[in-house]
Amino acid sequence: MKDVIVVGAGPVGMLTALALAQTGAKVTVLEQEPAIVNSPRAAVYFPSTLIILEELGLLDELNEIGFQNRTFGTHVPEFNYSSVVTTEPIEGIPYDYQLHAGQHDVARVAMEHAIRLGVEVLFNHEVVALEDGPGGVTITTRGEEGEQQFRATWLIGADGARSTVRKLAGIAFEGHTWPERFVATNVKFDFTRLGYQQANFVCDPVNMAVIAQLDREGLWRCTYMEDSSLPLEAYEDRIHQRYEWFMRGSKDYQIVSSSPYMLHQRAAETLHKGHVLLAGDAAHATNPCGGLGLTSGVWTGMVLADVLGAVLRGEEDESILDRFSDERRKIFWDVVSPAATENKRMLQERDPAQRQKDLAAIKALSEDPDSGAMLMLFAYKVIGDVLRPNSRWKDADPTPRVVPHIAARRGQIH
Ligand SMILES: Cc1cc2nc3c(=O)[nH]c(=O)nc-3n(C[C@H](O)[C@H](O)[C@H](O)COP(=O)(O)OP(=O)(O)OC[C@H]3O[C@@H](n4cnc5c(N)ncnc54)[C@H](O)[C@@H]3O)c2cc1C
Repeated sequence: MKDVIVVGAGPVGMLTALALAQTGAKVTVLEQEPAIVNSPRAAVYFPSTLIILEELGLLDELNEIGFQNRTFGTHVPEFNYSSVVTTEPIEGIPYDYQLHAGQHDVARVAMEHAIRLGVEVLFNHEVVALEDGPGGVTITTRGEEGEQQFRATWLIGADGARSTVRKLAGIAFEGHTWPERFVATNVKFDFTRLGYQQANFVCDPVNMAVIAQLDREGLWRCTYMEDSSLPLEAYEDRIHQRYEWFMRGSKDYQIVSSSPYMLHQRAAETLHKGHVLLAGDAAHATNPCGGLGLTSGVWTGMVLADVLGAVLRGEEDESILDRFSDERRKIFWDVVSPAATENKRMLQERDPAQRQKDLAAIKALSEDPDSGAMLMLFAYKVIGDVLRPNSRWKDADPTPRVVPHIAARRGQIH
């Protein structure tokens, strides 16, 4: 019998499994797909995530695979306006860049490290049933070898926004789903020649987009929104039409992959029920404007690995798992969801008066000498309270140490 079964070999599942294994827990990961999923999703990692990657021993490898970006562009084509925010070294913050890399690379590198520590990773194992009893959980999977059963003391559902674990445990997913659809495309095209930075917001009521470079070989991500009443099966035909606008008529692009997504602002009513725990998108899912989904999801996984490891070692009472649930839900509803909702609003705002106000705010931010620091420090808010005094993460959030010199001029971090 294992200490923990993690369902889902996505980035949160694999990082959480690795963090648990590093504390000595015996872990199995069950994944329904035959390999790590490589759909176009998270690509940008803020310093708050780099802390995790470094502490788990993955950052050097991922810096080799991805690249470091220090600029962020905001474009408002209607007013022919573009601004650039550059991140600079800040005393007390160990990183002055954002890492760009595919989330499948993060999951893969984490998996390789986890396997070396004895974590068992089983692909082609779709979880279809669970039974929670006094001694732990029994999981049923379906796959090439038919139905199989696994037992563990604890179960972590890191199986994405549509989480089967969450549904099987009877945990509601509170919040709402947006009417729009996102289309994420990976494309070979040099956006810099059109004045884009390596990461960009394009604010436009019709053609809003988030555009970012993905690797050093010239692969980029262009994600835009479309009305979900448009036929889903024809979304690929519409990509060229939308590219016409983003690439300003250039035709020398090569689409590598694409995927439509629903957008949510939802969190599970609890992240702890019996022996079942939730992390990542299974626990809380946000629209991706501003890249806060995985940014917050990995911290939910790290806080969970920290407290669950302590429970397994007998250092903490199980009641700490309820504190974990309350704390992570609070971070989502108080910090993550409002910020991502505001980003989405600004990107697609239709009201002309509000668009003028947004433009003024974007200009003011770009002229503020602390704008780079704001960009870097905001993401630290997703760390929230570290729940144990001797946690490996107890010094993770530099904000209390760093903020005063900025706060003297700004009052607070937005
Ligand atoms: C277009 C787009 C861009 C984004 N960009 C960013 C960004 O730049 N930064 C950021 O922080 N976030 C971003 N996000 C959000 C980010 O992709 C998610 O937060 C992230 O994927 C969550 O990771 P996860 O491991 O929790 O879940 P997932 O990545 O969804 O992984 C879940 C895994 O569970 C497996 N699984 C599901 N059901 C079962 C089952 N029954 N049995 C076994 N296995 C199962 C799945 O196959 C999958 O491998 C973006 C999202 C989108 C859509």
